[in-house]
Amino acid sequence: MGKRLTVGVAALLALCAAPDTIAQQPGDRQAARDPQDEMTRKLLTRLDLEKFKATIKGLAQFGDRRQGTERNRKAVDWIETQLRSHGCATERLRYVYDPPPRATRPGERTPFEPVIASGDVRLGPGGSRYRGIQRPTGVNTDPSAQSDARLRELNAEPAANGPREEVYCTKVGTTRPDEMYIVGAHMDGHGWGEAANDNGSGTALVMELARIFSMPGVQTGRSIRFALWNNEETGLNGARAYVEQRAGLQGKEEPPGSGRYPEPKWLAMVQHDMMLWDHGMPRADGTWSKEQRPEADINVEFQSTASRADEAMKLAFFFRTANEKFASDYPAAVGHHMTNTDSTPFMDFVPAISLRENERGMHTGAGWNPTWHQPIDVYSTFSDKDFRLGLNAAQTTGGAIALLAGIKLVD
Ligand SMILES: [Zn+2]
Repeated sequence: MGKRLTVGVAALLALCAAPDTIAQQPGDRQAARDPQDEMTRKLLTRLDLEKFKATIKGLAQFGDRRQGTERNRKAVDWIETQLRSHGCATERLRYVYDPPPRATRPGERTPFEPVIASGDVRLGPGGSRYRGIQRPTGVNTDPSAQSDARLRELNAEPAANGPREEVYCTKVGTTRPDEMYIVGAHMDGHGWGEAANDNGSGTALVMELARIFSMPGVQTGRSIRFALWNNEETGLNGARAYVEQRAGLQGKEEPPGSGRYPEPKWLAMVQHDMMLWDHGMPRADGTWSKEQRPEADINVEFQSTASRADEAMKLAFFFRTANEKFASDYPAAVGHHMTNTDSTPFMDFVPAISLRENERGMHTGAGWNPTWHQPIDVYSTFSDKDFRLGLNAAQTTGGAIALLAGIKLVD
């Protein structure tokens, strides 16, 4: 008996002396001792749920921020002011959006017709498949569908063709200022609400990352550009304009010998679009769960038909690993049908992925998010469980980019 006790005490002492050798799994132990992971963790503790929410609320003051309106231009100005206040140097991309008048498509569905509960497997965008209960989707263009008179007024100005601007800011790398990761989200919206989820959430996520990466004492070897695209909802026009104007400038030192690179060589493009809502498949009667489902996850997607698909796939799984290391509440899943998003124009140039609340094809496309482009996409629709999913996506991207860009915290 006495001998056993001695062995027990010895084991206990060994446990106390080297807690992580026994209390943790080998994988955890390795992670805990990786200085890059540790610095990344420290950086990510500066992400703040209340600040993330406040930024979404700040964007909501410009209503649905439809492109080609004053409320959209004011939102671009507001975003720029915020980025500058975080110490991230801003620039603007200018382009013209002047499409021919759009013919009304015959047979276009209204958003609120009865639910389809066919159970058929149907082909969706990006190579996806719709399964199970499907709810109709569409863009609300009817002001009277918005019950809030203030929002009807705020969103009243229609879009006009003409010049457009979008803002980005850059953290310059200390050892490789000539190479960069692009972290993006679109800031325009529509539907007569506040575009809180689509895409105040992605915009606020990118701004929150710009804030913590721009803090004094934070260095990265490579550069990071935080881009808030305009005109996404009209067909990715802002991101396309960026690719058209700037792809050819990559990696050029300007002026020569200055050490300055106006367009560092693109290493990857990571887009964020609709980050809050993962309440599951709609019910057969067309209603939906009011609560974030406990199984909620972040969907990281690449496009299997892209020229750079293999590298994008590896990047997507790197993000999933970063999620496992750094996200506090929700996991990430990887899919190969990235579609309808600002990373699309980049995907043949560089590895390009998107992060979302759901897969854009088989979930969003099948009507899993009833707020999508609807008057109820307003700040007050969402709960802290929803906002926390967005914050977990910020931890995921922030963690992955910190490791890729080579984070260093200096005092
Ligand atoms: Zn969107």
